[in-house]
Amino acid sequence: MTFAGNPTPPADDSPEARRYNKIHRWLGIADFAVGSVFLVLLLITGWTDWLRDLALRRGFQNYTLGVFLYLFLLMLMSKVLGFGLDYYGFQLERKFHLSTQRIRSWLWDEAKGFLVGLVLAGIVTELLYFMIRQSPQHWWIITWALFMGLFILMAQLAPVVLFPIFYKFEPLENEELRRRLVTLSEHAGTRVRGVYRWRLSEKSKKANAALTGLGATRRIILADTLLDNYAPEEIEAVLAHELGHHVHRHILKSIVVQAGTTLLGFWAANWVLHYAVDHRMFEELSDFANLPLLALTATLLSLVLMPALNAYSRFNERQADRYAFESIASVEPFISSMNKLAQQNLAERTPSKLVEVLFHSHPAISKRVAAAEAWGRSESGRAR
Ligand SMILES: [Zn+2]
Repeated sequence: MTFAGNPTPPADDSPEARRYNKIHRWLGIADFAVGSVFLVLLLITGWTDWLRDLALRRGFQNYTLGVFLYLFLLMLMSKVLGFGLDYYGFQLERKFHLSTQRIRSWLWDEAKGFLVGLVLAGIVTELLYFMIRQSPQHWWIITWALFMGLFILMAQLAPVVLFPIFYKFEPLENEELRRRLVTLSEHAGTRVRGVYRWRLSEKSKKANAALTGLGATRRIILADTLLDNYAPEEIEAVLAHELGHHVHRHILKSIVVQAGTTLLGFWAANWVLHYAVDHRMFEELSDFANLPLLALTATLLSLVLMPALNAYSRFNERQADRYAFESIASVEPFISSMNKLAQQNLAERTPSKLVEVLFHSHPAISKRVAAAEAWGRSESGRAR
C-alpha cells in the first residue's frame, strides 16, 4: 500500500494498543458471561421463585410493588457480581493513562448509572408485566409499540436529561468553528440546531464526537479533549463526518432498525414464555419469576444480532466518511485527525478481520484512512 504524499501512519499497532484492546475485549466477554451464568443459575436452581416470594412478601403482596422489588434485587445482585470486573475496567483505563477520573468520582458515576438503569428498567418491566396481565396473547406486540414510543422519547430526551447526569455540556463558543459549521451546513442544505462542547476531560483523556438527539434536541457534541488539541481543519473534518450522519438520517434509520430487532425480540420473548408455561417451568405468563428468562432471551438475541448490527453501523460510518470527503477542501485533515484519534484513544488501527466483524461499530482506522487517501487521489486526478 502506498501513501502518496500523506504522512505515513505507523504500519502496525503498538504492543500497548494491542494489549489494551485485547484486555478490554476480554473484559466485555467476561462481563457478558458472568451476567448470563447468573441468569441461568437463577432459573435452574429455582432461586428465582424464592426471590419472587421475597419480593411479594416485602411488597405487601402487591403485584406491582413486587415486580419492582424483584427487579431491584435482580439488578443489585448482578451489579455486586459484576463489580469486580467493573472496577478492573476502571483500573485498566487508568493503567493505560486513558482516564483521569478519581475513584470517588467513578463510584459516584456507578451509583448514578445504577439508579438511572433502575428507573428505565423499572418503567419497561412494569409496563411489560402489566400488559402480560391485561392481554396474555397480544402483550408482546402492544408492549413493543409502547416500548418504541418510549425509546423515541428517550432518544429525544437523552442529550438534555440523561447525558448531563454524567457530563457537563455548554454551547460551543468558537467563532472560527461556528463559521466553518455554517458553511458546511449550507453545503448540506440543512441546519444543525446546535454544537456543544462536551467536558470529557474531567474524566477521560480520550477524544470523541457524536450526533445525538432527535428533533429539537438534535445536536453535535464535541469533546473538549478534541476541541483543545486539534487544528481547526481537523475539527472541521470531524464535524463534516457528524454532519454526514445527519444528512443521511442515520439516527432515524437506526431507530427503524431498532424497531425491527426489538419486534423480533418481543416475538421471541412471547414464544419462550409460552413454552416455559406449557412445560410447567412457571404456572402462568405473569409470574415475574420468569424475568431472568426474558433477560436471557434478550441477551442471547442481541449477541446473535451483534455482528449484523455492527456491519450496519460500519456501513453508516463509511457513508458519513464519504460525506466528509466531499464536504471538506482536502482529505489531509481528515487523515491526520484519524491518526490523532487512534493514538489518543489507543485504538487498534488494524484489528484482525474477526475482531472487526464481531466487535467494531466503526471501520478499522486503517481502512478509513485508506478510503480517504483513495478519495484524495481520485480528486487530484480529476483536477488535473
Ligand atoms: Zn460516525
